[in-house]
Amino acid sequence: MKLILLGAPGAGKGTQAEIISEKYNIPTISTGNIIRAALKEGTEMGIRAKAYTERGELVPDEVVIGIIKERLALDDCKEGFILDGFPRTIPQAQALDNMGIAVDAALSIEVADSEIVKRMSGRRVCASCGASYHTEFKKPEREGICNLCGGELVIRKDDEAETVKNRLKVYHEQTEPLKSYYKAQGKLLEVEGQDKVSDTTALVLGALSEI
Ligand code: AMP
Repeated sequence: MKLILLGAPGAGKGTQAEIISEKYNIPTISTGNIIRAALKEGTEMGIRAKAYTERGELVPDEVVIGIIKERLALDDCKEGFILDGFPRTIPQAQALDNMGIAVDAALSIEVADSEIVKRMSGRRVCASCGASYHTEFKKPEREGICNLCGGELVIRKDDEAETVKNRLKVYHEQTEPLKSYYKAQGKLLEVEGQDKVSDTTALVLGALSEI
């Protein structure tokens, strides 16, 4: 299965991607996680991306397209993959098409802006492996500690209220048009994000069983 997850920041893409990944035994490729890892390591790409991510803006297309090209060429993507956070612009979607990669579906998780703002304040991520948690909706087994790797759970810098507002604006202006793009290809699936992770998962798996 080659799947794209669409949806506003905080809609639950990363959380659902982890679950689908395990169920279908395919990797999740999160451009956000790759960029955060590069930032932490201080690589050239990370340094270039820093100012954009901190303002809640998108990193230039050519940078993320380069990241995705390299990542999709690795062996573990042969049986399929989930793209979480890519594409985010029409040129990125066109670049994917031009790579000859035909996805099976683009699944959009719909959540109202007002709900997103509430959710983002409780979001935590693992500083080591990038796994996502929530203080109310997806608590770790031990407070402040990642279930998967034991890393420390932190608040993402770009989850601060003002940055979230900008990220939502960027989402509506630049990423939401991708729904029409994939609808025209007959590949768009839409589900309503629910409060409980497992309720959203049920809708997501139901939608995926139809492809
Ligand atoms: P995310 O974790 O997916 O919310 O991504 C965090 C930040 O990384 C975004 O706000 C962007 O600055 C950058 N980013 C991640 N994916 C992309 C992408 N496909 N295109 C441009 N910028 C991206």
